[in-house]
Amino acid sequence: MSDVKLEDIVSLAKRRGFIYPGSDVYGGLSGTWDYGPLGVALKRNIMQLWWKMFVDDREDMFGIDAAILMNQKVWQASGHVDTFTDPLVECSNCHARLRADKLDDPNKCPVCGKEGTFGEPRAFNMMFKTFVGPSFEGGKVTRVGKPVDANGNEVENSDADKYDVMSYDPKAVSYLRPETAQGIFTNFKNVVDSFYPDLPFGLAQQGKAFRNEISPRDFIFRSREFEQMEIEYFVHPDQWEAEFEKWIKLVHEWCDALGLPADSIHELEVGDDDRAHYSKRTIDFEFDFPIGREELLGLAYRTDFDLGNIQRESKKSMEYRPKDGSPAFVPHVIEPSFGLERALMAVLTAAYTTDEVNSESRSYLKLPVHLAPVKVAVSPLLKNKPELVAKAREVYAALKKEFGSVMWDDNGNIGKRYRRQDEIGTPYCVVIDFETLEGDTKDSVTVRHRDTTEQTRIKIDELVDYVRTA
Ligand code: ATP
Repeated sequence: MSDVKLEDIVSLAKRRGFIYPGSDVYGGLSGTWDYGPLGVALKRNIMQLWWKMFVDDREDMFGIDAAILMNQKVWQASGHVDTFTDPLVECSNCHARLRADKLDDPNKCPVCGKEGTFGEPRAFNMMFKTFVGPSFEGGKVTRVGKPVDANGNEVENSDADKYDVMSYDPKAVSYLRPETAQGIFTNFKNVVDSFYPDLPFGLAQQGKAFRNEISPRDFIFRSREFEQMEIEYFVHPDQWEAEFEKWIKLVHEWCDALGLPADSIHELEVGDDDRAHYSKRTIDFEFDFPIGREELLGLAYRTDFDLGNIQRESKKSMEYRPKDGSPAFVPHVIEPSFGLERALMAVLTAAYTTDEVNSESRSYLKLPVHLAPVKVAVSPLLKNKPELVAKAREVYAALKKEFGSVMWDDNGNIGKRYRRQDEIGTPYCVVIDFETLEGDTKDSVTVRHRDTTEQTRIKIDELVDYVRTA
């Protein structure tokens, strides 16, 4: 387990504008999180790094962005409607609803402490159900007693009267996607028809996924709305083992690019009984989170399960016709499935560092430079000296044009500014002081480094190059 405390990360994330509880002002909504300015920047940097590494830098990968709402047949064919469930138990004493397979003691309710209050677990489907269009049962509205809402609950103060919200046509049912993968599989044929790529090739997608988790917890680790970055890599069935091995290596390279220490990543070979129904081999890549060793991402060999299902249910061929004229076949699939929130939580955990500077303790984020939400902060030494401010503004504008994520910081004394920038992981602070304006050092600035706290004098002309390569 990491020796970083979860509460330190949660508190820094909120205080410094990375991550806030969702709907906070109304008391929150369990399992949802909002990203503040620095959180968005960090998230995007992780997503862009992923896209560069797995799509842009390769010849065999294609990006797609499918709709979140999909035809319900997708989720019937994939098995999600029947089997995307977690075991739910309810305590007969306090009525807490809990996930049976995550209980420390299966006989004791962790909420009220009573023993023997759980019945048999029920299979709880985690998909969020919704209805598409103004579509009602039988196409017309039939009122029975009081108006009801979409879930069949009576509506007291009846706005529903106006809309006549009644039971919905089952054909209008849809789901918020619980994984991005199905949007890739359903576009397999489209991409083959448009591009006819050589096999093996992959389709990559980033986007929201939704799961009505029974017990969302541990900060963003288990959320009800989260973001996935998934790849379906299509291979000849004879090649899957060799390709799977390559993906193991690539996953480690990804973790390295996130700045996660190699000894904090662990491969868990998932046994026959625990694997998802579609998988013939799965490795869970676990990370030493503050909450313990838990799944960061998964790598699964999904065989031809999904394309086979689509072919059967849609009656459309999902076969790939090799260019050398050998017989057509339904490709098999290797799926690396990355969760963005877990990547972000791992990055924050690995980066959170405490040390001592001038006999004072400091905590800071030792983020890899390419992930830092702010690359450079620019400050005039004193904010009430117009000549310093004017010069600092010039330097700020030049850096901003080049790097974008540059922050102007003239709040408080210089020591406080350094601390604040350290805490959000800004690798460099540029300070414009009196030496910038005159004497031998004219037109040079101080660059202060986050990790070492060392300061270097750099000519303004050379600053952009220096920051780019430092
Ligand atoms: P777990 O066993 O922790 O519930 P899972 O095995 O169901 O996860 P997958 O279906 O393999 O997860 O999803 C792929 C990835 O999506 C996970 O490795 C994780 O990074 C991410 N993920 C899944 N569920 C959540 C969630 N509720 N909140 C945040 N990320 C999630």
